[in-house]
Order: sequence, then C-alpha cells, then structure tokens
Amino acid sequence: METTLRGVGVSHGVAIGEVRHMGTAVLEPPAKQIPPEEAEREQGRARQAVDAVAADLVARGNLAGGEAQAVLEAQAMMAQDPELMADVDRRIAVGSTAERAVYDAFAAYRELLAGAGEYLAGRVADLDDVRNRIVARLLGVPMPGVPDSDEPYVLVARDLAPADTALLDPSLVLGFVTEEGGPTSHSAILARALGVPAVVALPGAGELAEGTVIAVDGSTGDIFVNPTEAKKAELEAAAAERKAALAASTGPGATADGHKVPLLANVGGPADVPAAVDAGAEGVGLFRTEFLFLDDSKNAPSEQKQVEAYRQVLEAFPESRVVVRVLDAGADKPLDFLTPADEPNPALGVRGLRTLLDHPEILRTQLTALAKAAEGLPVYLEIMAPMVADRADARAFADACRAAGLRAKFGAMVEIPSAALRARSILQEVEFLSLGTNDLAQYTFAADRQVGAVSRLQDPWQPALLDLVALSAEAAKAEGKSCGVCGEAASDPLLACVLTGLGVTSLSMGAASIPYVRATLAKYTLAQCERAAAAARAADSAEEARSAAQAVLSGE
Ligand code: PEP
Ligand code: MG
Repeated sequence: METTLRGVGVSHGVAIGEVRHMGTAVLEPPAKQIPPEEAEREQGRARQAVDAVAADLVARGNLAGGEAQAVLEAQAMMAQDPELMADVDRRIAVGSTAERAVYDAFAAYRELLAGAGEYLAGRVADLDDVRNRIVARLLGVPMPGVPDSDEPYVLVARDLAPADTALLDPSLVLGFVTEEGGPTSHSAILARALGVPAVVALPGAGELAEGTVIAVDGSTGDIFVNPTEAKKAELEAAAAERKAALAASTGPGATADGHKVPLLANVGGPADVPAAVDAGAEGVGLFRTEFLFLDDSKNAPSEQKQVEAYRQVLEAFPESRVVVRVLDAGADKPLDFLTPADEPNPALGVRGLRTLLDHPEILRTQLTALAKAAEGLPVYLEIMAPMVADRADARAFADACRAAGLRAKFGAMVEIPSAALRARSILQEVEFLSLGTNDLAQYTFAADRQVGAVSRLQDPWQPALLDLVALSAEAAKAEGKSCGVCGEAASDPLLACVLTGLGVTSLSMGAASIPYVRATLAKYTLAQCERAAAAARAADSAEEARSAAQAVLSGE
C-alpha cells in the first residue's frame, strides 16, 4: 500500500528506487575495566587505530580529489586532534579499554560541538563517522560505509558523512534520504553538488525496510513508500516537465509579463562564485563574510587578507550588483574574540551589528578593506548590516560606511520585527532593505532556528512572516527604494512568486535554486503573483498559505 512521509526537501528533482541503508551502526563498546598494567598497551592500540583511520581518510581524499579531499583531510585532522587524544589516554589510564575510551572521549567532544552554533553542529556527523571508524577498527568489525550494490538505489541514512559520500558512485545513487540533518548538513550540500534529489529530517527514515521502493520528491520533501504505477508516472512526468522548463529558461529573472525580479546568489566566499556564475546569477544578493573570520579564533583577519578575498568575489561580477553583508558574529555564529561567553540568550544578545558597534575597529577594517577591494572595478557594490533594530542602528552603520570613504549603497537587513514595523524610518538612513527571513522568522515566532522541535514556526510560509515582508516592501516602494529577500524563503520557487507579489524587488538564494526559481517565476504574471500573495496572507497557517497560493497559481 502506498503511504506518504514528509521531510524537508533540500535538493530538487524526483528519484524512484529501492532503499539501501548506509552501514552506520553506532558501535557502543562495553564499559569494561582493564588492569593498570595494560594501560600502556591499550594507549598504543588506540594511537595505532587513530593513525590508521587518519591515513585511510587522507588516502580516500587523494582518490576523490576536489572539495571532498579538503573535507576528508579535515576529518583526518579531527581524528588526530591532540586534545582528543590526550582525553583518550587519560581515560585509558583510569581503566578504560581503548575502544571505550575513544567512544567516550568523542562523545564529550560531540556535545561541545553540538552546542557550539549551527556551523559546528553541522560537523557532528563528521565527528561521529571518525569515531565509528576508529571503534570499528579497534573491535575488528567491518567499517561503516556505503551499501554494496550494482543496481541504482536510494541511499537512506541517519545522516551522511563525507568520508563515505565522497566515494559514492553517482551513477548508482538516485537520491538521498536522511533522518537527521538540515539544509546546511553535508547530506544536503553533497546532494546538491551531485545533482541528486534529497530529503532530510525525515522522522522514521531508519525504519524504511531495505529494498522497499520509494519515490523521493526533493522539491516538496515528500517520500512515497511503495508508490503506485500511477504515482510514479505522475512524479516522473512532473520531473520531466520541470527539467524541460529549466533548460528552456535562461536570462534575467522576470515574470511572464516581463516584470523584472533580479535573481542573485548567496555566497559564502570565493569558492561559491563559479556555481553562481554557472547558474546565471545576476549578481550577489548576500555575501556572507563570516568565513574569513573562522580561521583564527583569536584575531580578526588583516585588512590585506580581507581585500584579497573580497576582490575575488567582486571581480567575478562585472557590471553587476554585489551585496556584501558585514560580519554577522554571535548567536549561531559565535566568534571567541568577539562574542560574550556568558550571555543567557545569545540570539537576543550582542550579535550582528550590535557586535560591530561595540568593536568599531573591526567594522572600520572591514569597510576599509571593501572600499579598497572595489577600487577600479566596474561593480555595483552595496553593503548591508545584519540585525538592524531601529533608525539609530541604521544611522550608526551609514555613518561608519561614510567615514570609511565607501562609494557604495548602504543598506539594512530586516531580520528583527521592529525593523519591518518601522521600515520607513530605517529607510531615512539607508538606501535599501534586504529581508533575512531566516532570522525574521526566528524573532517573529520566538522560535530558535537551531531547535528542531520548533521548526513548524520557522516555516517561511507563515502568514505573519508574509505580513512583515509586505510591510517592508510597501515601505521601500513608498520611499522609492529597493527591498530584496536573501533568506532561505527566496529559494522556494512557489514562495518566490508570492514574495514577488508582495512587492519584493530581488531574490537571492543558493546558486542551485536559481534555475528553479527562474523557471517558475517565468510561468506567472505579476498580477497572478499578487493574487497568490493576497491568498497566502489571508490564510491562517503556513500549510494553508502554501495551498492557497498554489491554488491561485494553478488556476483552481
Ligand atoms: C537570514 O537570517 O535570513 C539571513 C540571510 O542571514 P543568516 O542566515 O546568515 O543569519
Ligand atoms: Mg540572519
């Protein structure tokens, strides 16, 4: 019998095939005590296993090359982390076996990572994988890894680790389904890189029986278990239609009647630029500059280092807009040397622009570096501040930009409800708005974006969020200024039409989503988008808003 499950779609397309589970059983070694005279031998065993696993990861990296190599080398370094090894030694010295000591030391480290912000929490799967490999070697049992299959299959896992996925044969993997993970997990990133459909955060994925046929819709997040022939045909037809529409749609973003909506890329650094250019991004709508600050936990990067990194991105988009966001430290992106360690609630504490106003030297260096990077380039540079709460914030930021001699537009991100409610007042100080819908949802619904249990409230289709988007867009229109969206909301093709109907003037998203949004937007007129937006705002829940917009656009 056909049943439907719903997870979070993170990589578009449809895959139909048999379930194969990843061999990632968590091996918990028994907590048995060893006599003190055996400690030294156990420590040697642990060291040997760690070195062998690290060497294996490096060898896999050499084989895989490219981005996977860097990830696997980082995992090898994780395995050999001196503090972790010292902890393993200590645990053995007080009576643990080598395998139990590795297991426990990694568990302690895991807790640290899981609580250390979204980026580091996303590395937990990598750490678990390293631990499983070392423990498996010590116990003499088979390594966890990709299924052994000659037939194409849908890979199902708790979460995917780069060591295994790097060696996946893309011609055999039809799609990914994971129980854990989110849009920033490796499973999602890898699926997008391989161009296979993927659904993450699917409760009960682990219970799907090996060999069961499932259909994965990576656009909607739906999983059809034992799909009927009619369902398979329907999904395949929809996927073929989408593919044809994608191939046919090129050029700048616009509605069917020619209302222009520039489609821009979200980038995290120079490494993301080629994909953005390939996808036909009309510029960059959000350049997250945090990556530059993650290398050194004690100091900000030098002005020169920043100039070089910014220039690489600016050079790739001649005659185009590049919107750079100044450092957004704090809350889910803590930086040791800037973020207070003792805040009771970091998301409501000193983060984003607040951090920069407390550390004007960091802001000054970044703005000066941006001014130098743009010198002589034919780029339309725009600079925006994260977490602007009110007009005073906007003024302080604009003053700092002027003082740095920047020839650029200055803007404010709308991520706090107060900024949406008083958008006109903020626009007295800056030239554009950009809606960070991820944080705007977090603060509108008092729902921490890192807590899965409240994810219902972080759905960007929530009508209250759409109301705030509309308020901001209307304020910008009244002031003759622009108001884009650069949060995840922009990457949902249907929602992109609704945002356009609400008056948003540009959409910025991960490069992989651009063709989908472009193709969907091109199917509807601005008037249809406006009607869909009105229908979505009239709804009482995210689910109803989505259905109402869909009904208007499909002419039901
Ligand atoms: C947002 O909050 O929507 C946003 C774009 O910023 P970030 O996700 O980096 O916080
Ligand atoms: Mg944000």
